[in-house]
Amino acid sequence: MNELISEVRATLLSNFHGDLLSPGHPDFEEARRVWNAMVARKPALIARCADTTDIQNAVRAAATAGVLAAIRCGGHSLGGFSTCEDGLVIDLSRLRDISVDEHGKRARFGGGCLLGTIDTATQKVGLAFPSGVVSHTGAAGLVLGGGTGWLNRLHGLSCDNVEGFTLVVADGSLVRANAKQNPDLFWALRGGGGNFGVVTEFEVRLHPVTSVLFGAGYCIGDDLAAIVRRWRDFMPHAPDNLRWGISLTTAPSSASVSPHLRGRPVASQGLVWVGDRDEGNRYLHRALSFCDCQAATQREMSFLELQTMADHEFPHGRRYYTKSGYFRSLGDSEIARMVAALETIPSPVDQIELAYLGGAAGRVGASETAFGDRGSPFIANVLGNWSEASDDAANVAWVRKLFADLRPAMTPGAYVNFMSGDEQDRVPEAYRERWGRLVTIKTHYDPNNFFRLNQNIPPQ
Ligand SMILES: Cc1cc2nc3c(=O)[nH]c(=O)nc-3n(C[C@H](O)[C@H](O)[C@H](O)COP(=O)(O)OP(=O)(O)OC[C@H]3O[C@@H](n4cnc5c(N)ncnc54)[C@H](O)[C@@H]3O)c2cc1C
Repeated sequence: MNELISEVRATLLSNFHGDLLSPGHPDFEEARRVWNAMVARKPALIARCADTTDIQNAVRAAATAGVLAAIRCGGHSLGGFSTCEDGLVIDLSRLRDISVDEHGKRARFGGGCLLGTIDTATQKVGLAFPSGVVSHTGAAGLVLGGGTGWLNRLHGLSCDNVEGFTLVVADGSLVRANAKQNPDLFWALRGGGGNFGVVTEFEVRLHPVTSVLFGAGYCIGDDLAAIVRRWRDFMPHAPDNLRWGISLTTAPSSASVSPHLRGRPVASQGLVWVGDRDEGNRYLHRALSFCDCQAATQREMSFLELQTMADHEFPHGRRYYTKSGYFRSLGDSEIARMVAALETIPSPVDQIELAYLGGAAGRVGASETAFGDRGSPFIANVLGNWSEASDDAANVAWVRKLFADLRPAMTPGAYVNFMSGDEQDRVPEAYRERWGRLVTIKTHYDPNNFFRLNQNIPPQ
Protein backbone atom coordinates (compact mmCIF):
# COMPACT_ATOMS: atom_id res chain seq x y z
CA MET A 1 0.00 0.00 0.00
CA ASN A 2 1.43 3.39 -0.93
CA GLU A 3 2.01 6.00 1.75
CA LEU A 4 -0.74 8.38 0.71
CA ILE A 5 -3.37 5.65 0.67
CA SER A 6 -2.16 4.51 4.11
CA GLU A 7 -2.81 8.05 5.30
CA VAL A 8 -6.36 7.99 3.83
CA ARG A 9 -7.05 4.58 5.37
CA ALA A 10 -5.75 5.65 8.77
CA THR A 11 -7.95 8.76 8.71
CA LEU A 12 -11.03 6.78 7.70
CA LEU A 13 -10.50 3.91 10.17
CA SER A 14 -11.55 6.12 13.08
CA ASN A 15 -14.86 7.28 11.65
CA PHE A 16 -15.99 5.11 8.69
CA HIS A 17 -19.34 3.26 8.97
CA GLY A 18 -19.05 1.24 5.76
CA ASP A 19 -16.41 -1.22 4.52
CA LEU A 20 -12.77 -0.45 3.81
CA LEU A 21 -11.41 -3.05 1.38
CA SER A 22 -7.71 -3.30 0.62
CA PRO A 23 -5.98 -5.85 -1.65
CA GLY A 24 -5.94 -9.18 0.19
CA HIS A 25 -9.37 -8.64 1.78
CA PRO A 26 -11.64 -11.59 0.83
CA ASP A 27 -14.14 -9.23 -0.88
CA PHE A 28 -11.55 -7.09 -2.66
CA GLU A 29 -11.29 -8.97 -5.98
CA GLU A 30 -15.06 -9.02 -6.46
CA ALA A 31 -15.40 -5.39 -5.36
CA ARG A 32 -12.75 -4.06 -7.73
CA ARG A 33 -14.41 -5.50 -10.86
CA VAL A 34 -16.32 -3.18 -13.17
CA TRP A 35 -18.66 -4.07 -16.04
CA ASN A 36 -16.15 -3.65 -18.89
CA ALA A 37 -13.38 -6.28 -18.71
CA MET A 38 -11.19 -4.01 -20.87
CA VAL A 39 -10.76 -1.96 -17.69
CA ALA A 40 -9.01 -4.21 -15.17
CA ARG A 41 -7.46 -1.71 -12.78
CA LYS A 42 -6.34 -2.34 -9.23
CA PRO A 43 -7.19 0.41 -6.76
CA ALA A 44 -5.26 0.55 -3.49
CA LEU A 45 -8.40 1.01 -1.38
CA ILE A 46 -12.15 0.66 -1.89
CA ALA A 47 -14.28 2.69 0.52
CA ARG A 48 -17.77 1.22 0.34
CA CYS A 49 -19.79 3.97 1.98
CA ALA A 50 -22.72 3.31 4.30
CA ASP A 51 -24.03 6.87 4.45
CA THR A 52 -23.47 10.46 3.38
CA THR A 53 -21.02 11.12 6.20
CA ASP A 54 -18.82 8.31 4.88
CA ILE A 55 -18.77 9.98 1.47
CA GLN A 56 -17.85 13.34 3.02
CA ASN A 57 -15.06 11.76 5.05
CA ALA A 58 -13.71 9.81 2.08
CA VAL A 59 -13.71 12.91 -0.17
CA ARG A 60 -11.99 15.02 2.52
CA ALA A 61 -9.39 12.36 3.31
CA ALA A 62 -8.51 11.73 -0.35
CA ALA A 63 -8.43 15.44 -1.20
CA THR A 64 -6.19 16.23 1.78
CA ALA A 65 -3.75 13.40 0.92
CA GLY A 66 -3.81 14.22 -2.81
CA VAL A 67 -4.99 10.71 -3.71
CA LEU A 68 -6.68 9.95 -7.02
CA ALA A 69 -10.33 9.01 -6.39
CA ALA A 70 -12.88 7.26 -8.58
CA ILE A 71 -16.62 7.45 -7.80
CA ARG A 72 -18.64 4.32 -8.52
CA CYS A 73 -22.38 3.76 -8.77
CA GLY A 74 -23.15 0.88 -11.18
CA GLY A 75 -19.62 0.55 -12.59
CA HIS A 76 -20.93 0.68 -16.18
CA SER A 77 -18.89 3.62 -17.41
CA LEU A 78 -17.89 2.61 -20.94
CA GLY A 79 -14.58 4.40 -20.42
CA GLY A 80 -13.91 2.67 -17.09
CA PHE A 81 -14.01 5.89 -15.09
CA SER A 82 -15.29 4.31 -11.89
CA THR A 83 -12.04 2.59 -11.02
CA CYS A 84 -8.38 3.57 -10.96
CA GLU A 85 -4.89 2.19 -10.61
CA ASP A 86 -3.44 2.52 -7.09
CA GLY A 87 -5.97 5.12 -5.92
CA LEU A 88 -9.22 5.19 -3.94
CA VAL A 89 -12.62 3.97 -5.16
CA ILE A 90 -15.56 5.61 -3.41
CA ASP A 91 -18.14 2.86 -3.89
CA LEU A 92 -21.81 3.81 -3.47
CA SER A 93 -23.32 0.35 -3.92
CA ARG A 94 -24.75 0.30 -0.38
CA LEU A 95 -26.66 3.54 -0.99
CA ARG A 96 -29.69 2.13 -2.80
CA ASP A 97 -32.59 3.51 -0.74
CA ILE A 98 -35.57 4.76 -2.67
CA SER A 99 -38.82 6.36 -1.53
CA VAL A 100 -41.76 6.81 -3.88
CA ASP A 101 -44.51 9.40 -3.49
CA GLU A 102 -47.37 7.77 -5.40
CA HIS A 103 -49.72 10.75 -5.34
CA GLY A 104 -47.14 13.40 -6.05
CA LYS A 105 -45.57 11.17 -8.75
CA ARG A 106 -42.10 11.77 -7.37
CA ALA A 107 -39.23 9.62 -6.07
CA ARG A 108 -36.01 10.17 -4.16
CA PHE A 109 -33.26 7.65 -4.67
CA GLY A 110 -29.73 7.14 -3.43
CA GLY A 111 -26.56 7.79 -5.41
CA GLY A 112 -25.78 4.05 -5.71
CA CYS A 113 -29.07 2.88 -7.23
CA LEU A 114 -29.22 0.69 -10.32
CA LEU A 115 -31.98 1.27 -12.87
CA GLY A 116 -33.60 -2.01 -11.77
CA THR A 117 -33.81 -0.77 -8.15
CA ILE A 118 -35.81 2.23 -9.31
CA ASP A 119 -38.05 0.34 -11.75
CA THR A 120 -38.94 -2.30 -9.15
CA ALA A 121 -39.93 0.31 -6.55
CA THR A 122 -41.84 2.66 -8.85
CA GLN A 123 -43.72 -0.12 -10.68
CA LYS A 124 -45.26 -1.20 -7.36
CA VAL A 125 -47.47 1.88 -7.69
CA GLY A 126 -47.73 1.90 -11.50
CA LEU A 127 -45.18 4.67 -12.08
CA ALA A 128 -41.98 4.80 -14.12
CA PHE A 129 -38.83 6.92 -14.29
CA PRO A 130 -37.54 7.48 -17.85
CA SER A 131 -34.08 5.88 -17.85
CA GLY A 132 -32.01 3.40 -19.86
CA VAL A 133 -32.66 -0.02 -21.36
CA VAL A 134 -30.47 -2.34 -19.24
CA SER A 135 -31.51 -2.76 -15.62
CA HIS A 136 -28.03 -3.43 -14.18
CA THR A 137 -26.79 0.03 -15.32
CA GLY A 138 -26.11 2.54 -12.53
CA ALA A 139 -28.66 5.35 -12.33
CA ALA A 140 -26.23 8.01 -11.14
CA GLY A 141 -23.82 7.85 -14.09
CA LEU A 142 -26.68 7.53 -16.55
CA VAL A 143 -28.76 10.44 -15.21
CA LEU A 144 -25.80 12.80 -14.73
CA GLY A 145 -24.73 12.30 -18.36
CA GLY A 146 -28.28 12.63 -19.76
CA GLY A 147 -30.06 9.28 -19.93
CA THR A 148 -31.78 7.94 -23.05
CA GLY A 149 -34.22 5.03 -23.12
CA TRP A 150 -37.62 3.73 -24.17
CA LEU A 151 -39.60 6.57 -22.55
CA ASN A 152 -37.54 9.59 -23.55
CA ARG A 153 -39.57 10.52 -26.64
CA LEU A 154 -42.69 10.68 -24.48
CA HIS A 155 -41.25 12.06 -21.24
CA GLY A 156 -37.79 13.49 -21.97
CA LEU A 157 -34.29 12.39 -21.01
CA SER A 158 -33.61 11.12 -17.49
CA CYS A 159 -31.90 14.41 -16.61
CA ASP A 160 -34.96 16.36 -17.82
CA ASN A 161 -36.96 14.59 -15.11
CA VAL A 162 -34.70 15.54 -12.20
CA GLU A 163 -36.03 18.20 -9.83
CA GLY A 164 -33.17 18.26 -7.38
CA PHE A 165 -29.78 16.84 -6.44
CA THR A 166 -28.00 16.59 -3.10
CA LEU A 167 -24.26 16.21 -3.45
CA VAL A 168 -20.96 16.18 -1.64
CA VAL A 169 -18.64 18.66 -3.35
CA ALA A 170 -14.86 18.68 -3.43
CA ASP A 171 -14.37 20.38 -0.02
CA GLY A 172 -16.57 17.71 1.57
CA SER A 173 -19.58 19.94 2.18
CA LEU A 174 -23.14 18.91 1.33
CA VAL A 175 -24.88 21.07 -1.27
CA ARG A 176 -28.37 21.09 -2.74
CA ALA A 177 -29.04 22.00 -6.34
CA ASN A 178 -32.49 22.63 -7.78
CA ALA A 179 -34.34 25.40 -9.62
CA LYS A 180 -34.12 27.69 -6.56
CA GLN A 181 -30.93 26.60 -4.75
CA ASN A 182 -27.67 26.82 -6.71
CA PRO A 183 -29.47 26.91 -10.09
CA ASP A 184 -26.19 27.06 -12.03
CA LEU A 185 -25.07 23.80 -10.46
CA PHE A 186 -28.54 22.32 -11.10
CA TRP A 187 -28.12 23.20 -14.78
CA ALA A 188 -24.61 21.70 -14.93
CA LEU A 189 -25.60 18.43 -13.26
CA ARG A 190 -28.19 17.74 -15.97
CA GLY A 191 -25.76 16.43 -18.58
CA GLY A 192 -22.39 17.49 -17.15
CA GLY A 193 -21.59 14.02 -15.74
CA GLY A 194 -19.76 13.37 -12.49
CA ASN A 195 -17.63 16.52 -12.70
CA PHE A 196 -19.12 18.47 -9.80
CA GLY A 197 -19.36 16.13 -6.82
CA VAL A 198 -20.81 12.89 -5.49
CA VAL A 199 -24.58 12.92 -5.79
CA THR A 200 -26.06 11.30 -2.69
CA GLU A 201 -29.71 11.74 -3.64
CA PHE A 202 -31.75 12.43 -6.76
CA GLU A 203 -35.32 13.82 -6.62
CA VAL A 204 -37.18 12.91 -9.81
CA ARG A 205 -40.58 13.05 -11.54
CA LEU A 206 -42.37 9.81 -12.42
CA HIS A 207 -44.99 8.94 -15.04
CA PRO A 208 -47.84 6.44 -15.11
CA VAL A 209 -46.71 3.47 -17.25
CA THR A 210 -47.27 -0.20 -16.41
CA SER A 211 -47.21 -1.91 -19.79
CA VAL A 212 -46.26 -1.17 -23.37
CA LEU A 213 -46.72 -2.63 -26.84
CA PHE A 214 -43.53 -4.19 -28.08
CA GLY A 215 -42.65 -5.18 -31.62
CA ALA A 216 -39.53 -6.84 -33.02
CA GLY A 217 -38.27 -8.51 -36.16
CA TYR A 218 -35.27 -8.98 -38.45
CA CYS A 219 -34.67 -7.64 -41.96
CA ILE A 220 -32.09 -9.38 -44.12
CA GLY A 221 -30.38 -9.08 -47.51
CA ASP A 222 -31.31 -6.01 -49.56
CA ASP A 223 -33.85 -5.09 -46.90
CA LEU A 224 -31.08 -4.13 -44.48
CA ALA A 225 -30.39 -0.77 -46.06
CA ALA A 226 -34.00 -0.37 -47.19
CA ILE A 227 -35.42 -0.63 -43.67
CA VAL A 228 -32.94 1.91 -42.27
CA ARG A 229 -33.94 4.35 -45.05
CA ARG A 230 -37.66 3.80 -44.30
CA TRP A 231 -37.02 4.26 -40.56
CA ARG A 232 -35.05 7.47 -41.25
CA ASP A 233 -37.90 8.89 -43.31
CA PHE A 234 -40.63 7.71 -40.94
CA MET A 235 -39.36 8.75 -37.50
CA PRO A 236 -39.40 12.55 -37.94
CA HIS A 237 -43.21 12.30 -38.36
CA ALA A 238 -43.87 9.59 -35.78
CA PRO A 239 -45.86 10.35 -32.61
CA ASP A 240 -43.95 10.71 -29.35
CA ASN A 241 -45.55 7.45 -28.17
CA LEU A 242 -43.35 5.48 -30.56
CA ARG A 243 -39.70 4.62 -29.91
CA TRP A 244 -38.20 2.57 -32.72
CA GLY A 245 -34.55 1.55 -32.72
CA ILE A 246 -32.59 -0.53 -35.20
CA SER A 247 -29.49 -2.52 -34.51
CA LEU A 248 -27.31 -3.63 -37.43
CA THR A 249 -25.64 -6.81 -36.28
CA THR A 250 -25.53 -10.60 -36.75
CA ALA A 251 -28.55 -12.77 -35.90
CA PRO A 252 -27.78 -14.86 -32.82
CA SER A 253 -27.25 -18.60 -33.18
CA SER A 254 -29.77 -19.36 -30.47
CA ALA A 255 -32.75 -21.70 -30.42
CA SER A 256 -35.16 -18.74 -30.41
CA VAL A 257 -33.92 -17.68 -33.87
CA SER A 258 -34.90 -19.75 -36.90
CA PRO A 259 -31.99 -21.63 -38.49
CA HIS A 260 -32.08 -19.72 -41.80
CA LEU A 261 -31.34 -16.44 -39.95
CA ARG A 262 -28.61 -17.55 -37.55
CA GLY A 263 -25.27 -15.87 -38.15
CA ARG A 264 -26.57 -13.67 -41.00
CA PRO A 265 -26.22 -9.87 -41.08
CA VAL A 266 -29.54 -8.42 -39.92
CA ALA A 267 -31.29 -5.18 -39.11
CA SER A 268 -32.79 -6.10 -35.74
CA GLN A 269 -35.74 -3.89 -34.93
CA GLY A 270 -37.17 -3.02 -31.53
CA LEU A 271 -40.33 -0.90 -31.30
CA VAL A 272 -42.09 0.33 -28.21
CA TRP A 273 -45.44 2.07 -28.07
CA VAL A 274 -46.72 3.71 -24.89
CA GLY A 275 -50.36 4.78 -25.05
CA ASP A 276 -53.58 3.79 -26.82
CA ARG A 277 -53.37 0.11 -27.80
CA ASP A 278 -55.36 0.23 -31.06
CA GLU A 279 -53.41 3.13 -32.41
CA GLY A 280 -50.17 1.51 -31.24
CA ASN A 281 -50.97 -1.80 -32.88
CA ARG A 282 -51.58 0.01 -36.17
CA TYR A 283 -48.26 1.87 -35.96
CA LEU A 284 -46.26 -1.19 -35.04
CA HIS A 285 -47.89 -3.30 -37.74
CA ARG A 286 -47.16 -0.63 -40.32
CA ALA A 287 -43.51 -0.24 -39.30
CA LEU A 288 -42.95 -4.00 -39.30
CA SER A 289 -44.46 -4.18 -42.81
CA PHE A 290 -41.90 -1.79 -44.29
CA CYS A 291 -39.75 -4.76 -45.28
CA ASP A 292 -40.12 -8.51 -45.51
CA CYS A 293 -39.74 -8.74 -41.75
CA GLN A 294 -38.56 -12.14 -40.48
CA ALA A 295 -39.68 -13.56 -37.14
CA ALA A 296 -41.87 -10.51 -36.53
CA THR A 297 -43.58 -10.31 -33.14
CA GLN A 298 -45.97 -7.79 -31.69
CA ARG A 299 -47.35 -8.06 -28.17
CA GLU A 300 -48.16 -6.30 -24.95
CA MET A 301 -45.52 -6.58 -22.25
CA SER A 302 -45.06 -5.28 -18.72
CA PHE A 303 -42.77 -2.31 -18.20
CA LEU A 304 -40.53 -4.45 -15.98
CA GLU A 305 -40.15 -7.07 -18.73
CA LEU A 306 -39.26 -4.32 -21.20
CA GLN A 307 -36.66 -2.87 -18.84
CA THR A 308 -34.88 -6.18 -18.32
CA MET A 309 -35.16 -7.82 -21.75
CA ALA A 310 -31.75 -6.56 -22.96
CA ASP A 311 -29.91 -7.38 -19.70
CA HIS A 312 -28.41 -10.63 -21.01
CA GLU A 313 -27.04 -8.98 -24.18
CA PHE A 314 -24.57 -6.86 -22.22
CA PRO A 315 -23.30 -9.01 -19.36
CA HIS A 316 -20.59 -8.01 -16.90
CA GLY A 317 -17.10 -9.24 -17.70
CA ARG A 318 -17.08 -9.09 -21.50
CA ARG A 319 -14.87 -6.67 -23.42
CA TYR A 320 -16.49 -3.52 -24.81
CA TYR A 321 -15.42 -0.52 -26.87
CA THR A 322 -17.70 2.14 -28.31
CA LYS A 323 -17.84 5.32 -30.36
CA SER A 324 -20.90 7.40 -30.97
CA GLY A 325 -22.12 10.49 -32.78
CA TYR A 326 -25.16 12.44 -33.96
CA PHE A 327 -26.56 13.06 -37.42
CA ARG A 328 -28.99 15.83 -38.30
CA SER A 329 -30.01 13.74 -41.29
CA LEU A 330 -28.81 10.31 -42.29
CA GLY A 331 -27.65 10.02 -45.93
CA ASP A 332 -28.05 6.94 -48.12
CA SER A 333 -24.27 6.67 -48.40
CA GLU A 334 -23.82 6.56 -44.59
CA ILE A 335 -26.48 3.88 -44.38
CA ALA A 336 -24.69 1.91 -47.10
CA ARG A 337 -21.38 2.26 -45.18
CA MET A 338 -22.93 0.89 -42.01
CA VAL A 339 -24.45 -2.07 -43.82
CA ALA A 340 -21.16 -2.77 -45.65
CA ALA A 341 -19.32 -2.75 -42.30
CA LEU A 342 -21.26 -5.86 -41.29
CA GLU A 343 -19.23 -7.82 -43.86
CA THR A 344 -16.08 -7.34 -41.77
CA ILE A 345 -17.66 -7.50 -38.32
CA PRO A 346 -15.10 -9.23 -36.04
CA SER A 347 -17.52 -10.41 -33.33
CA PRO A 348 -21.07 -11.68 -33.92
CA VAL A 349 -22.38 -9.42 -31.16
CA ASP A 350 -20.70 -6.20 -32.33
CA GLN A 351 -23.41 -3.84 -33.46
CA ILE A 352 -24.35 -0.46 -34.87
CA GLU A 353 -27.20 0.86 -32.75
CA LEU A 354 -29.40 3.47 -34.37
CA ALA A 355 -31.76 5.55 -32.26
CA TYR A 356 -33.97 8.54 -33.04
CA LEU A 357 -34.30 11.04 -30.21
CA GLY A 358 -36.80 13.85 -30.99
CA GLY A 359 -40.13 13.91 -29.14
CA ALA A 360 -40.21 15.47 -25.67
CA ALA A 361 -36.41 15.08 -25.30
CA GLY A 362 -35.90 16.95 -28.57
CA ARG A 363 -38.10 19.89 -27.55
CA VAL A 364 -35.90 20.91 -24.59
CA GLY A 365 -33.83 23.95 -25.61
CA ALA A 366 -30.07 23.62 -26.12
CA SER A 367 -29.30 26.05 -23.29
CA GLU A 368 -31.79 24.67 -20.75
CA THR A 369 -29.52 21.88 -19.54
CA ALA A 370 -25.81 21.09 -19.86
CA PHE A 371 -26.79 18.08 -22.01
CA GLY A 372 -27.22 20.58 -24.79
CA ASP A 373 -28.34 20.61 -28.35
CA ARG A 374 -30.95 17.98 -29.18
CA GLY A 375 -31.34 19.26 -32.76
CA SER A 376 -29.56 16.26 -34.36
CA PRO A 377 -31.98 13.46 -33.61
CA PHE A 378 -30.21 10.47 -35.16
CA ILE A 379 -27.76 8.77 -32.80
CA ALA A 380 -25.38 6.10 -34.12
CA ASN A 381 -23.57 4.04 -31.54
CA VAL A 382 -20.87 1.70 -32.86
CA LEU A 383 -20.45 -0.91 -30.13
CA GLY A 384 -17.74 -3.57 -29.99
CA ASN A 385 -18.63 -6.51 -27.71
CA TRP A 386 -16.37 -9.58 -27.52
CA SER A 387 -14.89 -12.01 -25.00
CA GLU A 388 -11.17 -12.68 -25.62
CA ALA A 389 -8.30 -10.24 -25.04
CA SER A 390 -6.65 -11.64 -28.16
CA ASP A 391 -9.53 -10.11 -30.18
CA ASP A 392 -9.10 -6.60 -28.72
CA ALA A 393 -7.18 -5.15 -31.65
CA ALA A 394 -9.60 -6.42 -34.31
CA ASN A 395 -12.71 -5.19 -32.53
CA VAL A 396 -11.31 -1.80 -31.53
CA ALA A 397 -10.03 -1.28 -35.09
CA TRP A 398 -13.45 -2.15 -36.56
CA VAL A 399 -15.23 0.38 -34.31
CA ARG A 400 -12.64 3.09 -35.01
CA LYS A 401 -12.65 2.53 -38.78
CA LEU A 402 -16.42 2.70 -39.13
CA PHE A 403 -16.61 5.75 -36.85
CA ALA A 404 -13.90 7.51 -38.89
CA ASP A 405 -15.80 6.73 -42.11
CA LEU A 406 -19.05 8.15 -40.70
CA ARG A 407 -17.53 11.12 -38.87
CA PRO A 408 -17.54 13.62 -41.80
CA ALA A 409 -21.32 13.31 -42.08
CA MET A 410 -21.93 13.67 -38.32
CA THR A 411 -22.92 16.95 -36.73
CA PRO A 412 -20.55 18.24 -34.04
CA GLY A 413 -21.54 16.93 -30.62
CA ALA A 414 -21.36 13.76 -28.59
CA TYR A 415 -23.29 12.06 -25.81
CA VAL A 416 -20.74 11.67 -23.00
CA ASN A 417 -22.28 8.44 -21.70
CA PHE A 418 -21.66 6.69 -25.02
CA MET A 419 -18.02 7.79 -25.29
CA SER A 420 -14.96 5.66 -24.57
CA GLY A 421 -12.09 6.43 -22.21
CA ASP A 422 -9.77 7.60 -25.00
CA GLU A 423 -11.89 10.52 -26.21
CA GLN A 424 -10.96 13.34 -23.84
CA ASP A 425 -10.35 15.56 -26.87
CA ARG A 426 -14.05 15.25 -27.79
CA VAL A 427 -15.40 16.48 -24.42
CA PRO A 428 -15.46 20.20 -25.41
CA GLU A 429 -17.24 19.09 -28.58
CA ALA A 430 -19.88 17.35 -26.46
CA TYR A 431 -20.72 20.62 -24.70
CA ARG A 432 -19.87 23.16 -27.43
CA GLU A 433 -21.30 26.62 -26.56
CA ARG A 434 -22.03 25.43 -23.00
CA TRP A 435 -18.33 24.70 -22.35
CA GLY A 436 -17.40 28.14 -20.90
CA ARG A 437 -20.30 28.08 -18.42
CA LEU A 438 -19.43 24.53 -17.37
CA VAL A 439 -15.77 25.45 -16.82
CA THR A 440 -16.84 28.39 -14.61
CA ILE A 441 -19.11 26.17 -12.51
CA LYS A 442 -16.45 23.46 -12.29
CA THR A 443 -13.88 26.05 -11.17
CA HIS A 444 -16.23 27.24 -8.43
CA TYR A 445 -17.09 23.80 -7.01
CA ASP A 446 -13.95 21.79 -7.81
CA PRO A 447 -11.00 24.16 -8.41
CA ASN A 448 -8.40 21.36 -8.05
CA ASN A 449 -10.23 18.91 -10.32
CA PHE A 450 -10.65 16.34 -7.56
CA PHE A 451 -13.48 14.77 -9.59
CA ARG A 452 -11.47 14.09 -12.74
CA LEU A 453 -12.21 10.46 -13.55
CA ASN A 454 -15.06 11.24 -15.92
CA GLN A 455 -15.46 12.89 -19.35
CA ASN A 456 -13.58 15.72 -17.74
CA ILE A 457 -14.31 19.44 -17.71
CA PRO A 458 -11.06 20.83 -16.28
CA PRO A 459 -11.30 23.93 -14.06
CA GLN A 460 -9.62 27.16 -15.10
C1 LIG B 1 -25.00 -2.29 -20.49
C2 LIG B 1 -25.13 -0.80 -20.62
C3 LIG B 1 -26.32 -0.26 -21.05
C4 LIG B 1 -26.46 1.12 -21.18
N1 LIG B 1 -27.65 1.63 -21.61
C5 LIG B 1 -27.81 2.96 -21.67
C6 LIG B 1 -29.06 3.51 -22.03
O1 LIG B 1 -30.03 2.81 -22.32
N2 LIG B 1 -29.17 4.86 -22.05
C7 LIG B 1 -28.13 5.68 -21.72
O2 LIG B 1 -28.31 6.89 -21.74
N3 LIG B 1 -26.94 5.18 -21.39
C8 LIG B 1 -26.75 3.85 -21.36
N4 LIG B 1 -25.53 3.34 -21.03
C9 LIG B 1 -24.41 4.25 -20.75
C10 LIG B 1 -24.47 4.67 -19.29
O3 LIG B 1 -25.34 5.78 -19.18
C11 LIG B 1 -23.09 5.06 -18.77
O4 LIG B 1 -22.22 3.97 -18.93
C12 LIG B 1 -23.13 5.49 -17.31
O5 LIG B 1 -21.93 6.12 -16.99
C13 LIG B 1 -23.36 4.33 -16.38
O6 LIG B 1 -23.53 4.77 -15.07
P1 LIG B 1 -22.97 3.93 -13.82
O7 LIG B 1 -23.42 4.63 -12.62
O8 LIG B 1 -23.28 2.48 -13.98
O9 LIG B 1 -21.44 4.08 -14.08
P2 LIG B 1 -20.16 4.26 -13.13
O10 LIG B 1 -19.09 3.58 -13.89
O11 LIG B 1 -20.39 3.84 -11.74
O12 LIG B 1 -19.97 5.83 -13.18
C14 LIG B 1 -19.93 6.54 -14.37
C15 LIG B 1 -19.44 7.96 -14.15
O13 LIG B 1 -20.33 8.63 -13.27
C16 LIG B 1 -19.67 9.01 -12.08
N5 LIG B 1 -20.58 8.72 -10.95
C17 LIG B 1 -21.13 7.53 -10.63
N6 LIG B 1 -21.94 7.68 -9.58
C18 LIG B 1 -21.91 8.98 -9.24
C19 LIG B 1 -22.56 9.75 -8.23
N7 LIG B 1 -23.42 9.21 -7.36
N8 LIG B 1 -22.30 11.07 -8.18
C20 LIG B 1 -21.45 11.65 -9.06
N9 LIG B 1 -20.80 10.97 -10.03
C21 LIG B 1 -21.04 9.66 -10.11
C22 LIG B 1 -18.41 8.16 -12.05
O14 LIG B 1 -17.38 8.74 -11.35
C23 LIG B 1 -18.07 8.03 -13.51
O15 LIG B 1 -17.38 9.14 -13.98
C24 LIG B 1 -25.37 1.97 -20.89
C25 LIG B 1 -24.17 1.42 -20.46
C26 LIG B 1 -24.04 0.06 -20.34
C27 LIG B 1 -22.74 -0.50 -19.90
